[in-house]
Amino acid sequence: MSITSDRPAVTESTASAAADMQWIDGPGGFTGVEPTLEWAEEVRRLAKARNATLLAHNYELPAIQDVADHVGDSLALSRIAAEVDSDEIVFCGVHFMAETAKILSPDKRVLIPDARAGCSLADSITADELRAWKDEFPDAMVVSYVNTTAEVKGLTDICCTSSNAVDVVASIDPDRDVLFLPDQFLGAHVKRETGRDNIHIWAGECHVHAGINGDELTEQAAAHPDADLFIHPECGCATSALYLAGEGAVPDDRVKILSTGGMIDAARETGAKQVLVATEIGMLHQLRKAAPGIDFQAVNDRASCPYMKMITPAALLRALREGRDEVFVADDVAARARQSVERMISIGNPGSGE
Ligand code: SF4
Repeated sequence: MSITSDRPAVTESTASAAADMQWIDGPGGFTGVEPTLEWAEEVRRLAKARNATLLAHNYELPAIQDVADHVGDSLALSRIAAEVDSDEIVFCGVHFMAETAKILSPDKRVLIPDARAGCSLADSITADELRAWKDEFPDAMVVSYVNTTAEVKGLTDICCTSSNAVDVVASIDPDRDVLFLPDQFLGAHVKRETGRDNIHIWAGECHVHAGINGDELTEQAAAHPDADLFIHPECGCATSALYLAGEGAVPDDRVKILSTGGMIDAARETGAKQVLVATEIGMLHQLRKAAPGIDFQAVNDRASCPYMKMITPAALLRALREGRDEVFVADDVAARARQSVERMISIGNPGSGE
């Protein structure tokens, strides 16, 4: 799912204002540039001059989403990166997402505005840790969620998204062990849905999603009895939500476990007047644009990803002026990673990633 944003037209009036914009490089990222109209015009002018396509993830700051050519989830954006006819991709998201774009479009130059924008979930398993785990289960199939580094994808048999994780695991010989990584909450969901007892789950988590817990969800669901619940499966509360629905505490049809792209589709289709959203709060911007008549509320309004928010107006300006930071993936790693991603796309409905 992707959305083309309403972005400002480029004019010739920005030259002097743009020349004054200078960024500051600090420990938390690049700062010092405000997302003014002049900034947006300068960004569009530079992107055009570089023949670059700007992609922004749903969790980015609203100003970054609004200046981009396309906004969406990680897999949809990577597929757009492969399809567009431009020399460069500027990926406003975290590093593993820019790597996935590079894997699917090896002939394009891929930039991320700040290469320090990592991901606690992708970092929860390294390639060496996966090699050691595979040694313990030499006949197992490795299934990795897309929030993984290129190196880990290169050691994976099939990648999966939150939309097709169950289908991917169900497609594997029932007698074969499965190593599922890195997200323990998504793994628990897959184990429950498939009923397999030979699925081994890596104990990784995203610190932002894990912080959205079941108690908060229960409290909010009770306070808003008519609201729908849109829940990302990486959330610590996803298991609680399914439990609450199973116990009848929340009507089953009000709980929707959705990827970020799936949330946009569901927002357009729901008849609810209010929706409680359990994922990173940047998502609210696109949901409110997609369905302005619905009151979207965060289950936890402190659930903000500090890595996504490193892609600041200053960082984007720097990326376009200086052509940095370029993302590289070694050819052999990219070739193996591409296979695991292509297998993912061929099973079930891959929908979208985070
Ligand atoms: S929200 Fe979590 S999973 Fe997503 S990029 Fe941030 S740390 Fe990673």
